[in-house]
Amino acid sequence: MALRPRSNPFAILTALLLVLFLTTLAFNLLTAQRIPTAPGGVDVHAATDLLLKVLGGIILLVLLYAGFARIVRRDSSPSTGFVKDNVFLDVVARLRDKEHELERLRSAAEERAREIESYNENILRSVSSGVITFNRESVVTTFNDAAGRILRINRADVIGKTCGEVFGANSTVAGLLNRCLSTGEAITREEFELYLPHGERIWIGVSTTLLKDSEGRLIGTTFVCTDLTEIKALQEQVEMRERMTVLGQMSAGIAHEFRNLMGTILGAAKLIARQTPPDSPVHESIQTVTHVISDMDHLITQFLNFARKTDPDLKPVDMGPWLKRAVEQVLEQVPPPHPHVEVTCFPDVPQIRFDEVLMRQALGNLVQNAVEAMPGGGRLTVSAGLRPPLGRRREVEVRVSDTGAGIPQDRLGKIFLPFFTTKPKGTGLGLALVHKIVLLHNGRIDVESQERKGTTFRISLPIA
Ligand code: ADP
Ligand code: MG
Repeated sequence: MALRPRSNPFAILTALLLVLFLTTLAFNLLTAQRIPTAPGGVDVHAATDLLLKVLGGIILLVLLYAGFARIVRRDSSPSTGFVKDNVFLDVVARLRDKEHELERLRSAAEERAREIESYNENILRSVSSGVITFNRESVVTTFNDAAGRILRINRADVIGKTCGEVFGANSTVAGLLNRCLSTGEAITREEFELYLPHGERIWIGVSTTLLKDSEGRLIGTTFVCTDLTEIKALQEQVEMRERMTVLGQMSAGIAHEFRNLMGTILGAAKLIARQTPPDSPVHESIQTVTHVISDMDHLITQFLNFARKTDPDLKPVDMGPWLKRAVEQVLEQVPPPHPHVEVTCFPDVPQIRFDEVLMRQALGNLVQNAVEAMPGGGRLTVSAGLRPPLGRRREVEVRVSDTGAGIPQDRLGKIFLPFFTTKPKGTGLGLALVHKIVLLHNGRIDVESQERKGTTFRISLPIA
């Protein structure tokens, strides 16, 4: 703080009086020694003596006043104009200092608040779990990046909307939120399947915490969710593989027994044929037996093929050229008429590792089914592209779509079962084998179909 230089009138007055006093004193001493008093004249010595006393008195008074004023100023109780001015300036200066101090504290507090906010945002952004907060009115107030990734929703589309608007009034999420808000109880890790707005199904694990204010009143709920789709798919794969192994071992044994018995029947039929005259009508019946046995043998071969333990020979493959070649080779083996065929591979598809022979077999079965579903012609589309990542899992998706007869909804759950067929000459092993091959590659397969519109099979293969 800059201080104004102070002029001190007391000091000047006191100095003047002192000079006058000293001069008078000197004059007084001089007159006392040298100047004799003229008879009847003025006594100069007595006059200076009087002047000295008066001046001494005034100086004393001035000094007393100055001392008093100093004491008063120290007590900050202004009583005179000079003192008042100095104290006022001091107070103003001190107030200014305080104001600056307050300003500095305020900006420091603001800076700290900004730091905490961005720190919280960074934490929310970097956690891999989805974090959503709802207020008491079920309105979304926080929605981090991971929640957006898991639920395939944009943050901007949900902030400020109610849970019902985002997930549906009857959705599982709305149910959980209502339960939390009405009972005031937190939920620890519940797992459920969620249907996303564009029809995709995912598995999520959810834990909730209740948000309370400093007085303990409920002000909202926080949902922390993790994507369990990948884990569930892996669990399903493991279970399916175990079931397949048991089924394969059991049925392979039975199939071999059948084959031996069929061999005996075929041998006996050939013996009868040799012992029967060439023009006998029995030959026709024997031929029928031989054909049926050979069909059964074909079926058993296919089944053993399906049930056999297979170790895929994984090699890195460039999807684009492979897909084109594989579809051409497959179509060569499918009897015409062929539908209109389109094969596309998006350029962002990286190399992936798979067993080319097995995957061609799977693709062949899907293409054959598609062609069979469009006896009057149609469009077959085969494509490969990147799927949106599922947690840390990145996948390539191969789609086989047709514009054929479609599959009724109640049949969709059965089509991958071995021996399920709706065709007079079908084996029902085509899709079962596709499923097995996909599982051997740690992949997933699903199907979407609309009657009389068409069917789409989607194979998702992990990118290693
Ligand atoms: P198959 O072809 O020997 O009948 P699959 O296992 O290949 O055995 O197919 C099982 C069943 O699934 C078929 O009989 C058919 O009813 C149905 N299906 C499979 N693919 C399609 C398709 N693209 N369009 C319509 N139905 C299909
Ligand atoms: Mg088939």
